[in-house]
Amino acid sequence: AKAQGKSCYKIFDAQMHAKALIRLNLEHEFCKALERKDFILYYQPIFDINTNHLIGFEALVRWQHPIWGFVPPAEFIPIAEETGLIVLLDNWVLYTACQQLATWQNQHPNLPPLKMSVNLSVPDLRKASLVRDIETILAETGVDGNCLTLEITETMLINNINDTLIVLEQLKTLGIQISIDDFGTGYSSLNYLHRLPADALKIDRSFINQMQAGNRNYQLIKTIITIGNQLGLAVIAEGIETQQQLQWLQELGCEFGQGYLFSPPLSAPKIEALFMNTGCS
Ligand code: C2E
Ligand code: CA
Ligand code: CA
Ligand code: CA
Repeated sequence: AKAQGKSCYKIFDAQMHAKALIRLNLEHEFCKALERKDFILYYQPIFDINTNHLIGFEALVRWQHPIWGFVPPAEFIPIAEETGLIVLLDNWVLYTACQQLATWQNQHPNLPPLKMSVNLSVPDLRKASLVRDIETILAETGVDGNCLTLEITETMLINNINDTLIVLEQLKTLGIQISIDDFGTGYSSLNYLHRLPADALKIDRSFINQMQAGNRNYQLIKTIITIGNQLGLAVIAEGIETQQQLQWLQELGCEFGQGYLFSPPLSAPKIEALFMNTGCS
């Protein structure tokens, strides 16, 4: 390559080179991981925080690399999104989570049907076959669309909002529910919130873990819950870790929650040991 401002170029080049290497390596490893089936799903239980009833799970992907060990989602999801490989991963996640849900529902036919939440990324929403693929997954696993929730973030809606709205409307015709994930952390506009075919708002963990009696975060959470209630949306709090946080959220009228206070994300066998074999609360 040709350098114009030589010293400048060198620093840039060295950094870019290191980054490119990491990325190439990760991208390559990621493809192999999909073939090798290094990925597994963990499931974090979601509760009705007033009755303590288990209502469902959020599927969260884990990468267990044979040499690197555990790779956190925060490290590989952004790269998988940039390269578009997330589409392959999320299709696997959707299939696996629905299959697991069908198994659990069949084991507990007398309970109200448990639900499954799956995270989507921008490339998923841009995939022309998304709606068809999900329809196929529901048919093959025998899961009712009403039991599947897709989590999207506000930031995913910024570009192409009109195209995205069409996709979301099509998903809704399958009975699927839409949650706005990490609500309040992105570029929210109250102006488009009412246009979204959303069913729920998820309050981001960053709000919950800095909540103090009457502080700014407390007020923000209160406002988010009010907006949710006013618009007829369910409100789910993420990252509930303490009894105090739980009590405040109950007082503020938040209906649903997940977090370490209840349970961390767990492997399927651990979910079964904790919640399914003992009979859900
Ligand atoms: P998220 O959707 O906001 O998921 C919640 C994250 O908070 C999860 O991190 C979960 O393990 C963590 N968490 C839950 N409760 C607590 C708590 O009480 N305390 C603390 N400290 N943390 C808690 P995780 O599993 O590392 O996932 C990170 C992000 O990666 C997710 O954020 C989601 O945006 C993305 N992600 C995970 N799985 C998938 C997937 O299958 N597809 C896509 N597209 N994205 C995914
Ligand atoms: Ca989520
Ligand atoms: Ca998220
Ligand atoms: Ca979050």
